Amino acid sequence: MSSTFSPHRVSASAAVAGATGYLAIDLAALGRNYQKLAAMLAPGRAAAVVKADAYGLGAERVAKTLSERGCRHFFVAQFVEAQKLRPTLRSDAQVFVLNGLQPGTEIECAEAGIIPILNSLEQYQRWSDAAGELRRTLPAVLQFDTGMSRLGFPPQERAELAQALGENSNVEVLFIMSHLASADEVDDVQNAEQLAEMCRIADEFTGFDISFANSGGVFLGGAYHGVLARPGIALYGGAPTSGVPNPMEPVVSLDVAVVQTRTVPAGAKVGYGAAHVTTGETRLATIAAAMPTACRES
Ligand SMILES: *Cc1c(COP(=O)(O)O)cnc(C)c1O
Repeated sequence: MSSTFSPHRVSASAAVAGATGYLAIDLAALGRNYQKLAAMLAPGRAAAVVKADAYGLGAERVAKTLSERGCRHFFVAQFVEAQKLRPTLRSDAQVFVLNGLQPGTEIECAEAGIIPILNSLEQYQRWSDAAGELRRTLPAVLQFDTGMSRLGFPPQERAELAQALGENSNVEVLFIMSHLASADEVDDVQNAEQLAEMCRIADEFTGFDISFANSGGVFLGGAYHGVLARPGIALYGGAPTSGVPNPMEPVVSLDVAVVQTRTVPAGAKVGYGAAHVTTGETRLATIAAAMPTACRES
């Protein structure tokens, strides 16, 4: 038995541009997720990581929604993302570039009011040079590698950095930060190791606020929070911690049309290469989940 184009509500509403499905983004749920995290972090604050177009949800609409909920700190990965986002935000919001200071963009970055996360002495020097050229102080964040080996000042650059900070007053350090590698695994020893290293760094670079937690880190407890946490995936409804029920509200849902259903007996081969063989009589649906999918905000 087989039927074609079941009267699914998507097929009616998805007439938009020939779409066969709807990706719905629940901005109200996004806002509630932000408030939940912000409440857990108080008196510290919650930033929002909106890199990769806010994990695909649209950086501009996400940032606007979170701005309305009081978020003032937005992190992107690349300078070009910051250039697009910065003009859409309130003047008292700050946009930070996680990947650091891209060579050749220093003056543009400074003039656009975009704040680089400096990850090496070489980046620090270029930002300081730009400050000199512009004859003003430029704001920055310093990121330290505490064991992930991805971005940030490596341990062997710390002494020279401390010296440079002592000599140089044209780079204003807003806060220092590091990134957790295994925060979604509550029992992973790497969390405590990274925290211990962050504490050593805080002892070496005294007087600076600390930003440490990503989504998982928010759920590791107050020791990990610092003054400004940087959640990403949890805002968008992703699970911050593995192995336990997800405390966040879903933000994204995908409705796609069922284009055909059939009931097959046991032993029926399903899909390319007979990827599945049924073990009993089974009702199957073929869905139209390929592009184009229209996008709807609510
Ligand atoms: C991506 C990223 C985050 C956000 O991580 P989530 O696990 O999505 O919360 C925070 N900080 C840095 C440095 C990142 O690169």
